Amino acid sequence: MTAITELPVQLAQLPDVTVLTNEPMAAHTSFGIGGAADLLVMPSSIGALAAAIKVLADTGVNVCYIGNGTNILVRDGGIRGAVIKLSEALTGIRRQGNVLIARAGESLGALCQHCAQQGLSGLEFAAGIPGSVGGAILMNAGANGGQMADATQWVDVVTDGGEIQRRYRDEIEFGYRRSCFQDNKLAIAQVAVQLTPADSRDVYRALYEAVEERCRRQPVGQASAGCIFKHPADDYAGRLLEEAQTKGMRVGDAMVSPKHANFIVNLGHATARDVLQLIEQIQQKVHDEFGILLESEIRIIGQDA
Ligand SMILES: Cc1cc2nc3c(=O)[nH]c(=O)nc-3n(C[C@H](O)[C@H](O)[C@H](O)COP(=O)(O)OP(=O)(O)OC[C@H]3O[C@@H](n4cnc5c(N)ncnc54)[C@H](O)[C@@H]3O)c2cc1C
Repeated sequence: MTAITELPVQLAQLPDVTVLTNEPMAAHTSFGIGGAADLLVMPSSIGALAAAIKVLADTGVNVCYIGNGTNILVRDGGIRGAVIKLSEALTGIRRQGNVLIARAGESLGALCQHCAQQGLSGLEFAAGIPGSVGGAILMNAGANGGQMADATQWVDVVTDGGEIQRRYRDEIEFGYRRSCFQDNKLAIAQVAVQLTPADSRDVYRALYEAVEERCRRQPVGQASAGCIFKHPADDYAGRLLEEAQTKGMRVGDAMVSPKHANFIVNLGHATARDVLQLIEQIQQKVHDEFGILLESEIRIIGQDA
């Protein structure tokens, strides 16, 4: 059994693993918010990911995974234990016939570009979603009528024993912004997407149009975590929030975007506490107005300051 104090040294000795201690999570989230994680572990190969998971499991330390941090709010007190960050280092895409296999930390944008370059269609809906491939699978990210579930063939995961296992599409229990990985705490290591041959120019055009439309409708370029709430059945969270007059509402530097009511933006120095208070206020407004309790889409982790 390894003592927690020895962990940074032990992890740093593993090949292809970078370890940071007391690392502010604000630097690793698109919200630009979040206290420090005790340990931030960044493996650059699947073997290194498995080895790091095994070492951490041996100490019983709390472990969580992040990709590009574009769908999470980290509380101001940070995260006790280890955060394994997959994006940036665990990247790479290869082709097998009409299937692209991407490592979990690869950006979804790079995968979309790769599809266009290779003349493969099927992920155009995802253009402009700023997450990693792993995060997109866990969230079953989607837009424009498409979702990751449509293209996914299989996912390789690492268990907390450090074993690599394959899960096929039918085993993943995809639903609206849902997958079984939200419950089972497995690390998503790589993903295979099944695509169809297409004219490269058509794919590039579809990607461009999707991004253009996104820039028109969303506060792209401002710090946020995308849509705060899931859509309720047969309606849109953004519509309900707009009609409940939440646009421009503010707590500290957290503000409901005047451009899209389902986005909260960080105007500069917002804390997680500000965002959580604002979420509560706008959730209440919609409930008072329409009797609907909106459910959070963003994932909230860590502890209060
Ligand atoms: C401007 C903006 C626009 C957006 N538009 C959309 C949109 O149109 N549609 C949409 O669906 N989403 C959208 N999002 C939300 C977000 O980009 C997606 O949910 C994305 O798929 C999250 O990926 P990520 O790598 O950033 O995940 P993170 O935010 O890092 O993590 C999200 C969840 O996945 C888990 N996770 C991440 N990687 C792994 C892994 N490898 N193994 C195990 N667990 C993992 C984390 O623990 C966390 O619970 C938007 C966000 C922003 C900021």
